[in-house]
Parts: sequence; structure tokens; C-alpha cells
Amino acid sequence: MFVLSSPSGAGKTTISRKLLAAEQNLRMSVSVTTRPMRPGEVDGKDYIFSDRAGFEQRVAQDGFLEWAEVFGNHYGTPRAEIEAGLEAGQDFLFDIDWQGTQQLYQRAEKDVVRVFLLPPSIAALESRLRNRGTDSAEVIAGRMARARSEISHWDGYDYVVVNDDIEGCFAKVRIILEAERLRRSRQTGLVDFVRGLVS
Ligand code: 5GP
Repeated sequence: MFVLSSPSGAGKTTISRKLLAAEQNLRMSVSVTTRPMRPGEVDGKDYIFSDRAGFEQRVAQDGFLEWAEVFGNHYGTPRAEIEAGLEAGQDFLFDIDWQGTQQLYQRAEKDVVRVFLLPPSIAALESRLRNRGTDSAEVIAGRMARARSEISHWDGYDYVVVNDDIEGCFAKVRIILEAERLRRSRQTGLVDFVRGLVS
């Protein structure tokens, strides 16, 4: 479980897309959310959109690996699909906030790698949020406040990468993924392989 968190506007979506395109065995974990669908979003692909009652039902059925309230809406990682995928050797990329990251880590410490992306400066973050052109000044101000609060959780992560250049940041995140895959504890089948080598 490869977790990528960042304040909004730090380039997480771009880095996620590049990672998914480059890494065959990495699949996006699609979250359930109660927030309204944004233009261009596809139900079942970007998120599984749900009403509050449906979300609460899943919570009651222990249907989430983690869930949290973010910006007044509920977001959660559906358990069944992720658990089945992990069992089959599938790696997952998670775009979740610090609260969800903490829950995943508490649940499955050894299977979780936590990466936090930071913007090079607050000015750069603000300009990225402005350049999206989709939100009002009020919404941007709200996001800036939340970004500062999200940034304050940087120390709950294993790796921190400053995204001052997309290609450089992508390369670093990819190196983290590759190195974590090479951990002895994550290389299933290694015992038999080595036995074959020495017998
Ligand atoms: P957005 O509404 O802009 O897509 O996402 C808002 C925030 O919710 C982002 O910081 C994103 O990482 C977080 N988020 C998305 N899905 C989940 C989830 O399943 N669990 C948690 N804890 N956070 C999520």
C-alpha cells in the first residue's frame, strides 16, 4: 500500500498519474466519497460516489479499511477490493489524507509506505490553486488554510519529497517505490528462490 499525501495543489494528481502509467503492477485505490461529483469525474473511476446513508451503511458493516471526514465530506477506502488485490500480489496507490494514512498504518504497518509531497513554497501552492481556474477566491482561501493544516502532518510519513520540479519529483517517488519493493520482507518467494540457488 503506497500512500501519497499532500496538500491540494502540490502536484499529487500529476505524480499519481505518471506513476500509474509507468508501473504495471500498481493500481489506484478508488475511494468512496459523499462529496458531489466534479465536472469531468467518472463514477467508479475517480471515486465511487455515494450518499451519506450508503456511506454510513458501509461503515457499520466494517466495509472500509479506513475512512475520514475531509473538508466536510466523507471519504473511505473500500476494504474488500483492496484486500483481495493485496492477497493476489497487487500493489495499490492511495491518494488519502493524513487521517486515513494513520489508520492504514495502524492496521497494517508492515504493508504501508507513506510518502508526503510538499510544495516548494506557499506562493507556488497558491499560484497552482489559482491556475486551476475552477474555484472562487473564497474557495481558494479555504483551501490555503486547509493546505497549511495538512502540511502540519508531514511528520507522520516515511518519506517527504519537495515537488519543485515534476520530473525530478516523479523520479524520486518512483525510486522510493522500487526500493520499498526490494525490501527482503516484501519479496515473497525469495526463500524458495535462494534455496534453488544453493541446492
Ligand atoms: P478531493 O475531494 O479534492 O478529491 O479530495 C480531498 C481530500 O480527500 C484529498 O486530500 C484526498 O487525499 C482525500 N481523500 C480522498 N479519498 C480518501 C479516502 O478514501 N480516505 C481518506 N482518508 N482521504 C481521502
